[in-house]
Amino acid sequence: MATLTYDEATSLVVRCLEANGCSNENSRDIANVVVTAEADGCASHGLFRVPGYVSSLRSRKVDGRATASLERTGPSTVRIDGQGGFAPPAHRAARSSIVEIARTQGIALASFVNIYHFSALWADIEPICSEDLCALAFTSYLPSVAPAGGTKPLFGTNPMAFGWPRPSRLPMIFDQASSVLARGDIMIAARDGHRMKEGVGINAAGEATTDPNEILKGAMLPFGGYKGSSIALMVELLAGPLIGETLSFEAAERDNKDGGPPRGGELLIVISPQKLGGIGWREQGEKLFDMILQQPGTRLPADRRYANREQAKLDGLLISDETLAKIVSLI
Ligand code: NDP
Repeated sequence: MATLTYDEATSLVVRCLEANGCSNENSRDIANVVVTAEADGCASHGLFRVPGYVSSLRSRKVDGRATASLERTGPSTVRIDGQGGFAPPAHRAARSSIVEIARTQGIALASFVNIYHFSALWADIEPICSEDLCALAFTSYLPSVAPAGGTKPLFGTNPMAFGWPRPSRLPMIFDQASSVLARGDIMIAARDGHRMKEGVGINAAGEATTDPNEILKGAMLPFGGYKGSSIALMVELLAGPLIGETLSFEAAERDNKDGGPPRGGELLIVISPQKLGGIGWREQGEKLFDMILQQPGTRLPADRRYANREQAKLDGLLISDETLAKIVSLI
């Protein structure tokens, strides 16, 4: 393992993306999300993802110089066309408009289309929830998860994230795939020769297996059986037909299979508790959090990440030699 400071990791990622045709501004957006994910202890969406970003730049599937365009389609709706670029630059371009709509209208419904999403969803909502707003985000992926009872991949790993603002601290955010694990975790286990837990996936013949390579050839399973399957189904519809984008299996049909993300959509719902709940919303939320934490063994979602982030600022980021060598070889 190698230790890099935040700044060293950021400039490495920026150099690598710029060398492969990404603009400096867009490279910085992507570096910010992958380096923060690495610092937070989310290896599956950290620097490990950089080669996938580069593959999509090299194959010219994704436009690293894209500038997203915004269209206000109604009092509380905005459509963001990523113009074939990665998701983080589209979010940067749209963020202040989304915040302004939610503050004035009470709710903002932001549909991101024509983007390539390859990052953790919390990165999309953390800056928005830090503005005293509540947010939900949904995006689909490539077919990797079998519907409950089925054996063939149909749904993406389809994450959803929910964030709630907190006074003088980072928001509470949960962000979870609708599969048992993120696909990146299975890829990392395959790379490192580890077995998976029971129940993560099935092989191409539809049989249970703990071999990550067999799962990657077969199908992942939704978390919680039919309940997770229904969440995956909902995410397909919200991030696809609802906003005029593709379902996971449609995204796969037009993907060039370069190892990077597919073109797809993302739905962001941002709500102002001030407008809806009025006085007292903050204290009520905090009361709930306090009551959870009074029970031994509990913690709030995202607190693990935030603690890791603070530690990484002191100790630096531990990067696997293989990931580091790969990124350097791509410059
Ligand atoms: P995890 O199962 O690791 O965690 C899910 C959530 O549960 C996190 O918010 C986590 O908080 C929280 N959590 C975990 N343990 C506890 C606990 N004991 N008490 C309270 N909260 C807890 O995540 P997944 O594997 O499901 O997803 C990983 C990532 O993959 C997500 O960021 C997701 O956005 C991303 N992803 C992106 C895709 C894309 O297409 N862009 C596709 C699929 C996934 P904490 O982080 O603090 O541990």
